[in-house]
Amino acid sequence: MDYIRNFSIIAHVDHGKSTLADRLMEFTGAVEEREKKDQLLDTLDIERERGITIKLQAVRLKYRADDGNDYTLHLIDTPGHVDFGYEVSRSLAACEGALLLIDATQGIEAQTIATFWQALEQDLEIIPVINKIDLPSADVERIKEQISDVLGLDPDEAILASGKAGIGIKDILEAIVNKIPPPEGDENKPLKALIFDSYYDPYRGAVAFVRIFDGEVKKGTRIRLMSTGKEFEVTEVGAQTPQMTQFETLKAGDVGYIAAAIKDVRDIRIGDTITDAKNPAKEPVPGFRPAKPMVYAGLYPTGSTLFEDLRDALEKYSINDAALTYEMESSPALGLGFRCGFLGLLHMEIVQERLEREYDIELITTAPNVIYKVVTKKGEELEVRNPAQMPDPSVIDKILEPYIEASIITPNDFVGAVIQLVQEKRGIQKAFEYIDKKTVLLRYDIPMAEVLFDFHDKLKTATRGYASFDYEFKDYRPGELVKMDIKINGEIVDALSFIVHKDKAYRVGRNIVDKMREVIPRQLFEVRIQAVIGSKVVASARVAPLRKDVLAKCYGGDITRKKKLLEKQKKGKKRMKQLGKVELPQEAFLSILKAE
Ligand code: GDP
Ligand code: MG
Repeated sequence: MDYIRNFSIIAHVDHGKSTLADRLMEFTGAVEEREKKDQLLDTLDIERERGITIKLQAVRLKYRADDGNDYTLHLIDTPGHVDFGYEVSRSLAACEGALLLIDATQGIEAQTIATFWQALEQDLEIIPVINKIDLPSADVERIKEQISDVLGLDPDEAILASGKAGIGIKDILEAIVNKIPPPEGDENKPLKALIFDSYYDPYRGAVAFVRIFDGEVKKGTRIRLMSTGKEFEVTEVGAQTPQMTQFETLKAGDVGYIAAAIKDVRDIRIGDTITDAKNPAKEPVPGFRPAKPMVYAGLYPTGSTLFEDLRDALEKYSINDAALTYEMESSPALGLGFRCGFLGLLHMEIVQERLEREYDIELITTAPNVIYKVVTKKGEELEVRNPAQMPDPSVIDKILEPYIEASIITPNDFVGAVIQLVQEKRGIQKAFEYIDKKTVLLRYDIPMAEVLFDFHDKLKTATRGYASFDYEFKDYRPGELVKMDIKINGEIVDALSFIVHKDKAYRVGRNIVDKMREVIPRQLFEVRIQAVIGSKVVASARVAPLRKDVLAKCYGGDITRKKKLLEKQKKGKKRMKQLGKVELPQEAFLSILKAE
């Protein structure tokens, strides 16, 4: 174990984590230049397209250090998005140290601080790395000051590097070996393995990525998942080198994977502990909590997709995504569908995209909402995951909504704009501090629902892209909230109902009907759109009917032209939903997101 080092790279997005990871693999010979695809750690297509890492994985590297010894390094990747915060914390719990990467041209940003705190909480040895020093605009002195003032680390310990140009790579590897402590643990004790990631492999079944704290696991070991008591027999253990490579055994201190012909990835819960069923550990690794969805939305089949198709696709998909929850729901307007729970908006977009792309599903998504807690006058507490199911105001004592704690880092030129934006979002200022002469760190408590709705875009616009933002869930607090319904030609469309703060109700109602008027195509008859609270109409708009002769012109004429039109229409229809006589596009369901 003296020659093992377990570490992560933590950084704000785009500060160069993937590039550096690739460079470390290349330098240690894990990857030959010619077989190197761009950014090996990002495996899924969507991840690559979006330039972010969703599924964390662990790579085993071999390194002969200047002291002459051969070391085994486990580089554990962490997801780079706030939706996956719990997974980040479990990955860090598998490490003894972390490289904290800071872009020399950007300096410390919101995620730099957030991940730094997470690493501190796990008691990790933190090695600051000033990255991208190859760029002419690199300002190493400024970053050093920040490292000292904001993080309280010794700036002289910072390694100057460029993942892209290959500068400082050896210094980083030597620092990993010399500064990060070797893992502790006892291979003679009962098996204790922390699951920090999982994925579904068509050949191996659900695979767990683990850090072994005590004991040993090999092919044939009967393992038990400590949170559920379920047992399986190990078919294979190994590590990514970066290919999945089988090993004889994994022992205390090691990081690797365990496969046990497990059919459903939901049996492998991130944060859970694997032990030996015949000789179980007394206590699991601390810190387990089941994945908890923060955001809900309805998914409904449309086009040629049937309810059964969507159900089958969700079933198959969720084998590979333990964080997704779903339950059947029936909407008077949309028919049978599913209410799905997501870790956050990004997670929701990923699920939606993958269902469409990999399972050929056509679907409509309702506007996402947070989970509200309602205390009734009788003192019951209800969880409301669908605004349409909000009880009648006459029985409600109070409604509580989730708050997040947000950190925003911005150049001081934009402080005024940021404060104005956050105030519009009902934010409560908690801290205001200069992290250097030109940069301010703001901390706010903000209702989570307010940041779901295009907050990030607005922040970027208000600060010309310079501000960064990170958050974590904080608590539930009472709010003056009301349910707003949308009526189309006099009928409430339950799938369009949403919860809004009383003071914003009129503005949001106005904006949403205007927005819907823009996106609802003209039809043969007039479409009336109304925003209502109870029986009170807050705003209304109408979409004028198409004139019959226009239509006749379109659809008469020669047959090929007609076919083309129909083809085109079919494509355009992909995300349409028929509501009685009215046809609503997907955008109409998401208008609430743009209604602020
Ligand atoms: P991640 O989001 O932290 O994984 O960042 P990436 O590794 O994907 O890098 C983000 C962008 O910065 C990419 O366009 C990289 O090519 C670029 N980049 C990464 N490292 C360096 C570096 O050391 N120097 C320069 N000039 N660019 C870099
Ligand atoms: Mg990356």
